[in-house]
Amino acid sequence: MDWDLTSYFNDFAAYESFLGELEVDCRRLLTSLSSVPPLSPVTEATWAGAIDHYENTLARFSHASSYVGCLASAEAQVDRHQQAEARIARAGAELSKLSLEFVRALRGVDDATFESFASRPAVLSARPALERWRREGAHTMSSELEALAADLGNDGVHAWGRLYNRLSSDLTFTMAWPDGRRDVLPVSQRRSIMASPDRAVRLAAFRGGNEAWARTSDVCGAALNHIAGTRLTLDARRKRPSAVHAALEQAAISEATLDAMMAAVAGGASVARKVLSLKAKAMGRTSLAWCDLEAPFEIGTPEAPIPWDEACARVSRSFHRASPELGGYFDHTVARRWIDFAPRAGKRPGAFCTSSEVTDETRIYMTYQGTAGDVSTLAHEAGHAFHAEAMRGIRPLARQYPMTLAESASTFGELLLADGLRKEGIIDDAGRARMLGDGLGDAVAFLLDIPVRFLFERAFYEERRKGEVPVARISELMSTAQRRVVGTVLEEGGDDPLFWASKLHFFLTDISFYNFPYTFGFLLSRALFQRYQEEGPSFMPKWVAFLRETGNAEAHVVAATTLGENLESEAFWRRAIESLEPDLAELEALAPKVFHTSK
Ligand SMILES: [Zn+2]
Repeated sequence: MDWDLTSYFNDFAAYESFLGELEVDCRRLLTSLSSVPPLSPVTEATWAGAIDHYENTLARFSHASSYVGCLASAEAQVDRHQQAEARIARAGAELSKLSLEFVRALRGVDDATFESFASRPAVLSARPALERWRREGAHTMSSELEALAADLGNDGVHAWGRLYNRLSSDLTFTMAWPDGRRDVLPVSQRRSIMASPDRAVRLAAFRGGNEAWARTSDVCGAALNHIAGTRLTLDARRKRPSAVHAALEQAAISEATLDAMMAAVAGGASVARKVLSLKAKAMGRTSLAWCDLEAPFEIGTPEAPIPWDEACARVSRSFHRASPELGGYFDHTVARRWIDFAPRAGKRPGAFCTSSEVTDETRIYMTYQGTAGDVSTLAHEAGHAFHAEAMRGIRPLARQYPMTLAESASTFGELLLADGLRKEGIIDDAGRARMLGDGLGDAVAFLLDIPVRFLFERAFYEERRKGEVPVARISELMSTAQRRVVGTVLEEGGDDPLFWASKLHFFLTDISFYNFPYTFGFLLSRALFQRYQEEGPSFMPKWVAFLRETGNAEAHVVAATTLGENLESEAFWRRAIESLEPDLAELEALAPKVFHTSK
């Protein structure tokens, strides 16, 4: 492995005894808390002490799980690491039981009792977490009913999810290649084939795949109906005001924020449609099918591989240009060997950043193969790492930031890199076009694809409330959403009515509306970057203040207090979308020089 993990543990045995102690402490704490009555003037001191214990276990858990995550990714073939992953997952489940005890403690307590507790000096800075638990308590049934729901879920809602997983992993489709070959392939391979630059290949994968999905659409439709039906029943019992309420809470954004963002996206989708038009033009067409959405821009000469050291130097220079603190932290990460980057057999795919709340260190995992996209991935993960560093010294309960805000640091890192490289002028036209194409491809995903999923899911839930929705109707809702969002760039008959069946995330049973947080993160980071472009390096301390607060409140509150931005106004989101216009104009200007025009 490239990275040095010795500051986590000297060896695996040291890790195992650390985890063993943590497991014992967790069990002890759970046993003792389960007999403490809910919060009252009598139990206040006990619960305050419990918070301290709980945070201590949280920090130690982050240390252990970060270590295991590193090992299991970098040396996936080692059995011991796989077993360690299963064991740490069980420890994580025990920790969530602990947090449920706090939910129980705060459930239904009156304001005076809550205030008295939350204003204790030792508890005060954990207040946002207390408020989260209290809100969660307001939307849970009695402990007995929640336990029954969880038990029934194993053979009910989660079983429908597992049935879908089983079905989709066994499902195959016939791939009729344009040259006459025919292959029977698992549907999991379809998406990468649909990213082919050859349109005939894309269409063949699309048609073959949808024949397979059509064969199973009755079962998929039943699964979707019953997952949603269970959720609606539970939502009503848990007094959740809308189908999207649980997802909003998980994303830590207000309904007004979501509405403002979606309104701006609906009004500003034209820029993403123009990206599609440009893509169509490069293919010698005027409109595209849904299955062309992820087709790459075909751009000029193949890029020369960028050596690892040069990749680090590029990220370092771009970060230093914005902030010595950010650049310095990245240099520190490289110098201390905190990055595992080299391609090796037995490495898992993907990239991530992980951190320990015990040592306050971070690690970056990726497989670097020398493409410009890989350099961008490095900047992305380095952005996450800096976010963790910015939170150094903050208590564990005030560090739990939602996914919506996590991506604002990483995407910002990518934007700083792109900006730095543009200013240095070391990238040729083809490289620049490729970067712009990637960014604008994201715009298509976040401003068209994700909103389609959101509109579909919302419409589906509305109809499901009245009863089961037939498969034909589900498909109609999907086509309608696609036509509405993509508009006339979507060719006649180019919609994908079975998109709902082929997308796993509609069948996730732990979370609904697994879609809008991505659009949120994309646009928020663009808005932040726009502020940086206007204000220059003097913006960076505000950005750091924003990062430090991300675990403390709902997104609109954090943005208002640290940046003076109003996330509940459509204008904020519209500006973020408009920031894509100059990129589009630049790519349009480069297009005649760099695009391969293909079929
Ligand atoms: Zn990320």
